[in-house]
Amino acid sequence: MSKIIDGKKVSAFVKENIKNEVKNLKERGIGVGLAVILVGEDPASKIYVANKKKACADLGIVSMEYLLPENTTTDELLSLIDTLNNEKTVNGILCQLPLPKGIDEKTVLNAISPEKDVDAFHPVNVGKIMIGDYDFVPCTPAGIMEMLKYYDIQIESKTCVVIGRSNIVGKPMSMLLMHANGTVTTCHSRTKNLSDITSRADILVSSVGKANFVTADMVKEGAVVIDVGMNRDDGKLCGDVVFEEVSKKASYITPVPGGVGPMTIAMLMKNTLTAAKRQNNLI
Ligand code: NAP
Repeated sequence: MSKIIDGKKVSAFVKENIKNEVKNLKERGIGVGLAVILVGEDPASKIYVANKKKACADLGIVSMEYLLPENTTTDELLSLIDTLNNEKTVNGILCQLPLPKGIDEKTVLNAISPEKDVDAFHPVNVGKIMIGDYDFVPCTPAGIMEMLKYYDIQIESKTCVVIGRSNIVGKPMSMLLMHANGTVTTCHSRTKNLSDITSRADILVSSVGKANFVTADMVKEGAVVIDVGMNRDDGKLCGDVVFEEVSKKASYITPVPGGVGPMTIAMLMKNTLTAAKRQNNLI
């Protein structure tokens, strides 16, 4: 039976450290601020934004919320981003996705100053991740690296397999594992003989977004299994991995909920703190 990688515990640890650092900065007269932009009425996005706001409040980070109507134009949004790029009290800017149809998402994300791009979606930050010289990493893969570190799971020289190649999860995840000296294979919907590849993995990350996708026969005995998926199965929140059977084979496994999910917001807070430190020439 595998050990559970407890995302709530690791995220609490990360957040406690951030809280202390934010407090120390405040004592030196340096505030940490995050601007969160939400356009439209998407219910899931509203929940995400509320959670981010709460996390900021818990850690002493000032959050500034910009709620814009559904019919906001790209130019109006660009104008707000320009103001925030130039506002000293704003260290990080986050534009909640998805944006309503009609707004040019690429133009908007590219307009956020790379120094304030705490989601790490700007091409400059994406390029820096590729080179291995980065401040910000997309929050989900960054959270996974933090969990592996917390549980002292060695990556160097390990066979790592990432299922999924999205810009938000799969690609940066593969890059981070490679920078940590893992030997990485990235799989996607056109990969042939997927289970032959996954069953060689010492560390298997699944970010497919399909319930019951990773079964025990796809997993090597003793593998570390990280489940990024957030799916609904008969209305119940679940990951990509069939937890019951895979947990019998894996050495470590993340549950859903309570695994990768809680790490994502913690890492957003960490990126915001990093932005503040960089902008104040402290790193
Ligand atoms: P995405 O953009 O839909 O990417 C899914 C990836 O899975 C794609 O690269 C796709 O391949 C690949 N794929 C689809 N079917 C496959 C198959 N049969 N075999 C192999 N690969 C296959 O999704 P995402 O944004 O990366 O998110 C993935 C999952 O993680 C979702 O469930 C999402 O909700 C969850 N998520 C969770 C968190 C969290 O905080 N826990 C954060 C972000 C995302 P192609 O590229 O060929 O299409």
